[in-house]
Amino acid sequence: MAETRFTPRVLSGIQPSGGLTLGNYLGAIKRFVQTQNAATHETLFCIVDLHAMTVWQDPAALTRNTRELAAGYLASGIDPEKSILFNQSQVPEHTQLGWIFNTVARMGWMGRMTQWKDKAGKNAEAASLGLFAYPALMAADMMIYHATHVPVGEDQKQHVELTRDIATKFNHDYDTAFFPLIEPVIEGPATRVMSLRDGSKKMSKSDPSDASRINMTDDADTISKKIRKARTDAEPLPEIYEGLKDRPEARNLVNIYAGLADCSVTDVMARHAGEGFGEFKPALADLAVEKLAPISAEMARLMEDPAEIDRILSRGAERAREIAAPILAETYRIVGLVR
Ligand code: ATP
Ligand code: MG
Repeated sequence: MAETRFTPRVLSGIQPSGGLTLGNYLGAIKRFVQTQNAATHETLFCIVDLHAMTVWQDPAALTRNTRELAAGYLASGIDPEKSILFNQSQVPEHTQLGWIFNTVARMGWMGRMTQWKDKAGKNAEAASLGLFAYPALMAADMMIYHATHVPVGEDQKQHVELTRDIATKFNHDYDTAFFPLIEPVIEGPATRVMSLRDGSKKMSKSDPSDASRINMTDDADTISKKIRKARTDAEPLPEIYEGLKDRPEARNLVNIYAGLADCSVTDVMARHAGEGFGEFKPALADLAVEKLAPISAEMARLMEDPAEIDRILSRGAERAREIAAPILAETYRIVGLVR
């Protein structure tokens, strides 16, 4: 990237729109922890509570999900000393810059977002204005820190491209180079974990079917049952990964295995080629329980002290505002707002 004048800085977020899933863990949190520990970038991780509100959230559930997501970050290894961990609504600069980006983004750009089309469904007239506009707020989430990199799952690629379009148009319209062109970081074997019931659908915390996903709070028995019941086919695993090209459900389980075991899909094939799902599923279930049980136990422990979680988030928000406030002030100056 040309913009070397920007501090290498990572920002990413997760919505408290339900409980954390295995998709969020492998596609996002696990990689956030690796980025934090590599210590090559400043790291900010966010609970995007205002995004969650773009579809109806029961207030008590939103509060609980926010704390539980914070517990999920902490239990997975996000260290609030090394990273800045906070919830979006405590840093008003996000929405302030979000408004300015609403004036930059074009209706046509927003209408092309596949997630808008998926989530609004056939009845777009009844969807909230926030659901349509939220990718501009997401752009502000990153740009209010001049973030240079964003680790995300495959499903967020289009929103990151939109962020680059918004930054480019802002820079062009105001004849400046103020906002960086952020790079999406989409890496590893599990950047798109699919539903356990339908290999063509992404695993999502907001999916109405609980059987479609593994929740980070599921107990060992539930995890095993869901994996055993996952939709597959009757063929054994082939010798090479390419042999799974037209077998999305089987490919998904192999990707999950690689993500959990921290190995390549080639390694998984080398170890499990020739096995049918009667053999492979129990191996995967054992691995999932081994990796997830300590995290869910730690989440439960942290949830016993919500006041401590709230303190961590408030402190994170204070630190986030120290970076965000001067960037907002300079944005206001650039666009000509009087302060
Ligand atoms: P919702 O259904 O409410 O949109 P979600 O499960 O899609 O929830 P988000 O909060 O939208 O979760 O996304 C948080 C992060 O998790 C993003 O980086 C996203 O790309 C990643 N992610 C979400 N689902 C998956 C998945 N199935 N596989 C890999 N990464 C995922
Ligand atoms: Mg999502």
